[in-house]
Amino acid sequence: MAYFLQCQRCGFKVKVKSHLGLKFFGVFLAFAGYVVYKARLFLSSGFNLEIAATLFFSGLVIFLFIDVIATSQEKAQLCPICRGQKWKLKTR
Ligand SMILES: [Zn+2]
Repeated sequence: MAYFLQCQRCGFKVKVKSHLGLKFFGVFLAFAGYVVYKARLFLSSGFNLEIAATLFFSGLVIFLFIDVIATSQEKAQLCPICRGQKWKLKTR
């Protein structure tokens, strides 16, 4: 899915750089946490559940908030047409 930021003043649209890779990274981390939990990879260390939970939840946070994190940087820029700084996130 492509994301666009639209200037609320003049309607200028700018494409948001893809952050799909980071989303996959989040899914990968969550999955890794699940695997650690199931396979008990770190059971001998005594922290298996902690490690699994940390992996899982950091992956979840990346997956859920990457849109917010990625677009907050893009939103800081000025519109090249009208120098406005109010952007609206659109999906197409
Ligand atoms: Zn503008």
